[in-house]
Amino acid sequence: MDLQIVGRRAIVCAASKGLGRACAEALAAEGVELVINARSEAPLQETAETIRSKYGVPVTAIAGDITADSTRQAILAVCPDADILVTNAGGPPPGDFRDWGREEWNKALDANMLTPIFLIKEVIDGMIARKFGRIINITSGAVKAPIAVLGLSNGARSGLTGFLAGLARDVAQHGVTVNNLLPGPFETDRLTVTMAGAAKRQGVAVETIRNQRLAANPSRRFGKPEEFGAFCAFLASGHAGFLTGQNILLDGGAYPGTF
Ligand code: NAP
Repeated sequence: MDLQIVGRRAIVCAASKGLGRACAEALAAEGVELVINARSEAPLQETAETIRSKYGVPVTAIAGDITADSTRQAILAVCPDADILVTNAGGPPPGDFRDWGREEWNKALDANMLTPIFLIKEVIDGMIARKFGRIINITSGAVKAPIAVLGLSNGARSGLTGFLAGLARDVAQHGVTVNNLLPGPFETDRLTVTMAGAAKRQGVAVETIRNQRLAANPSRRFGKPEEFGAFCAFLASGHAGFLTGQNILLDGGAYPGTF
């Protein structure tokens, strides 16, 4: 299927690794020009070079923390007229809410709620004027099925989700869609880190946690980042213009509800 996005411009945040990178690669495979971001310069440049040589599209790499105003300004300076925005950032650490003060909450809110909103604020009017826009936010399955130890994530991402639900309806008439992708367990560094944390808390081997999680998922496996990227590219496509305001779980069937 031709996704009808050849030559479109996309900003993909937090994209040197994992799910962000998979989204960037899937868009590049469809001929989309990219601006990608992550904090560490070397792996980001390596990813940019790999994508350029593999897919033959222009890729600009902007290193910096996406929660910093200066990083977002640098991204927008090289891509003021994005057609596609994929928001993403690292997830907050696990823990007990009794240990979290204003600083911990502010960090989580900044990364997982306010940063996507500030980015959207900068690109959306251009999208409306050009009558095409695709905003895709990488959130978490925890928005639908909270994970107790990830309270910072549950809280901050739900705030983002609530805000976007209103925004999506407001801009739909202009050809701009806003959707959230909710990953369940995907084989990335983040999953390795969260499983290591769980193993430490429970005093068991990481392999034990891994096997428990694999057994608990109806698909008996973790997701592959490229499956996530492919879905993102479809959401960004010309075919997905009537799909907006949705929270789409990619979790192998882990969420147990009928709807
Ligand atoms: P990952 O494999 O650890 O990759 C994270 C990427 O984001 C890296 O490129 C990292 O590069 C970049 N990054 C992190 N913090 C950043 C920041 N503040 N500014 C700019 N770039 C930043 O993680 P992932 O699995 O792809 O997860 C992506 C998001 O999905 C996270 O929010 C995570 O919580 C959520 N999620 C993941 C899963 C899963 O199973 N994988 C499940 C549910 C939710 P640098 O470190 O160099 O910045």
